[in-house]
Amino acid sequence: MKKCNRCGCFFIGDNDVCANCLPIDANDKAKLIDYCETNKSLLFSDIIHSTGVSSTNLSRYFSSTEFSQYSKNIQYNDICKKINLN
Ligand SMILES: [Zn+2]
Repeated sequence: MKKCNRCGCFFIGDNDVCANCLPIDANDKAKLIDYCETNKSLLFSDIIHSTGVSSTNLSRYFSSTEFSQYSKNIQYNDICKKINLN
């Protein structure tokens, strides 16, 4: 059993999120990739503001290998420095 990273429910599977949240997660990732591809400067707070993706979910995406090519370019302002990226 795994715990869904979005809604907190328990589910069986290999994903980070449950089946209900999978399409929402995919939508967030698509927005995020689009943002990272079109913006040269990646400021964490700007990404939250522009994409509407929560900081918790952003941290999760950027700590995944899927987003490793973008995560190294992200800049954090003072507010977001406290967010722990693994
Ligand atoms: Zn869920």
